[in-house]
Parts: sequence; C-alpha cells; structure tokens
Amino acid sequence: MKFSYYMPTRIVSGTDCVAENAGLMAPLGKKAFIMTGKSSAEKIGALSDITGALESQGISWVYHNKVKPNPSLEEVRESAAEAVEAGADFIVAIGGGSPMDAAKAVAVLAAEDVTDDQLLSQRTFNKVLPIVAIPTTAGTGSEVTPYSILTNNKLQTKSNLNSGQLFPQIAYLDGKYTKDLPYHITAATAADALSHSAEAYLAVRAIPLGQSLALESLSIMGPILPKLAKEKTLTIEERGALLYASTLAGIVIAQSGTTAVHAMGYSLTYFKDIDHGKANGMLMSEYFRFVGKERPDEVAKVLSALGFDSVDAFEKVMEDLLGKEKLSSEEASKFASIAIKAGNIANTTPAPSEEDLNYILSTCFVE
Ligand code: NAP
Ligand code: FE
Repeated sequence: MKFSYYMPTRIVSGTDCVAENAGLMAPLGKKAFIMTGKSSAEKIGALSDITGALESQGISWVYHNKVKPNPSLEEVRESAAEAVEAGADFIVAIGGGSPMDAAKAVAVLAAEDVTDDQLLSQRTFNKVLPIVAIPTTAGTGSEVTPYSILTNNKLQTKSNLNSGQLFPQIAYLDGKYTKDLPYHITAATAADALSHSAEAYLAVRAIPLGQSLALESLSIMGPILPKLAKEKTLTIEERGALLYASTLAGIVIAQSGTTAVHAMGYSLTYFKDIDHGKANGMLMSEYFRFVGKERPDEVAKVLSALGFDSVDAFEKVMEDLLGKEKLSSEEASKFASIAIKAGNIANTTPAPSEEDLNYILSTCFVE
C-alpha cells in the first residue's frame, strides 16, 4: 500500500487544556503575538486563558484583534509588520479559520521577505515562526492543516497557501470556547467540517488512513446535524464532539485536500459574501449526485456514515440547517468559469468540466 502521512501538530484536548498544558509553549520563545478576530476571543475567555498560560511561562505577549473574516493578502502583510515590530518569537491564533489562517501567513511574512506570488506558490520557506492554534469554531480544522486560505483581490477569489511548515506546533482544543457560538456560525462551520471529510474521502488524493478518520468524523457529526437543524441549539457535550470531529476532518484534508465543492465555494464567498461552510454545505448534495453517477458505492458509504440512506434525505437536513441562497444564471456560469481553474479541481474524480460545475451551481442556487 503506497501512501504518505504527515501531521506534526501536537493536539491537546479537554476542558482547561490551555492552562493545564501551558508548559508546551515554553520552548517556542519569549514573546508571543496573539492574533484574534474582533471580539469573540475576549468574550469567551480564551484570551485570558492564553495570556495567563503565557505569563505562567514567563512569556510576554502583544495582542492583535484585527483579523477580519476571510482575511486578505493585504491584511496579513499589515499584521506581519506589527508582529515584526513587536519582536514576536511565535504566533498564537485564537478563533475560527480566519485568525488561524492569517496567523500562518504572518508566521511566514514576519520571518522572511517574500512576494505574494512566492507566498502562494512556495512549498518551503527559509524560516517560519512557530504557531499555536486555538479553534473557537468547529470548524475549519485549520489547527491541524498546512493550509492558509487568503482572499486574493487580484484574482477575485480565495487562494491557498500550502506548506508543511505551516502546521501549527500546538493545537489546544477546548469545547467550552464554542459554547456560545451563534446558530448560523455553528451550522456553517459544521457544514465546512462535513465537507472536508466527505470531499477528502472522495478525493483523487484520498488515502485509506484518511478515509478511516473521515468516516469516524462523519459518524460523529451525523446525529448532531439534524438535531442542530431542528432545535437550533446543542449541549456542551455535542459541541465538544463537533470540535473533535472537525479536527479529525482537518487531519484528513491535510493529507488529501479538498475538491470541486471548495473550488466553487470560494466564488460564493468572494462575490456573494456567503459563509465558507454554508457555501460548501449548500453544494454538497448536488456534488454527491455528480460523483455518485460513477462512484455510487463510495458516495453511499459517506452518506451511511452520516446516517442517511439517500442524497434526498441528506439534502433535506442540509436545507433545514443552512437555508437557501439565490444566484442569477450569469453568476452561476461566471463562478463555474473561475472554479474550473482552481487547483482542487484536479483532486476531483470524476473530473468535472466547466459545464458540470455550472450545472451543479445552477441546480443549487438558480431558481
Ligand atoms: P471565521 O471567519 O474565523 O469567524 C466568523 C465569525 O465567527 C467571526 O465574526 C468571529 O467573531 C465569530 N466567532 C468565532 N468564534 C466564535 C465563538 N466561539 N463565539 C462567538 N463568535 C465566534 O469563521 P470560520 O468559518 O471558522 O473560518 C472561515 C475561514 O477559514 C475562511 O477564510 C475559510 O476559507 C478558512 N478555511 C481554512 C481552512 C484551512 O485548512 N486552513 C479550511 C477551511 C476553511 P470575531 O471576529 O469577533 O472573532
Ligand atoms: Fe473549508
């Protein structure tokens, strides 16, 4: 069996895991640059947990709460200049995928002067600052991936920075941080995690080790999603389970990547401001039908892990979970023409044509 697996992130999980495992950060340096979104990290107590943990190790810190959702190449350059000015030895990211992905780009840009093209195309860098990731959504899995997805205004899409050096050194998983996550973010981020496991399971670059983890994560999410769709709320245990499942899904995409769903989703986010996970979740049923034409048994396995016996039953729950959005037919064909150029199309099997992508987008969004 021929495959390669690399996942160097130390994962520590459980309530209060930041305080209880503060010592893991001691070797990373004497000054931390803490990156968060606008306010959630502070409100949920994650910021005070990390500052307390850093201080317990004699590490000083600078706080940067300026990461916006879907961070851009321009924004991460500004943040990197601040990290250099602060004399940061390492970066701590608290938040959803946006702060974690921004932190990865800053970890490169604060250590080395590279152009945007080099940042996006190079697989190795001379130096990258160590990264500590604390996810507060469940989620992107960015805490265990080598990817940073950045808004690329020049290309009018999202571009993927990809280097093995971007795996965070440490991922602290504490489900309590997701306790007050509003319904629409819980639903969208859960759909993102689902898309990671489902896409990576069906990807060209799928590996058996990743597929096992994908099925495990889907079977954890399966019963939680219909309940979330119906009751709009989750217990703290369910939230912890969802966080674990999303980290598993991150480990899977770290090995096998995403496919046409993510490729199409980037335009929905860039042009229509639809949340990343919601965009993926809304495309998923039609993607299953497309792949299922040639690979019905494998799609059935994914659905069965989630607890569904048909795409139709799955589609109904996803609609309840995420609602509906509309596109014009001109928008659908424009987005298909952008998506067909994305790198993750080559990771999709059967290989879709631009017409296939247009059909999927139109069926999901054009009335
Ligand atoms: P996000 O953009 O990081 O955050 C969305 C919103 O959620 C923000 O307004 C944030 O508020 C709020 N929020 C976060 N945690 C919260 C909490 N615990 N309680 C209340 N509000 C909270 O959302 P995301 O969906 O996690 O990340 C999306 C980004 O990740 C996209 O750019 C996507 O492309 C990327 N992504 C990356 C990977 C990867 O492998 N690297 C994979 C998939 C997606 P504040 O601003 O106040 O914090
Ligand atoms: Fe994603």
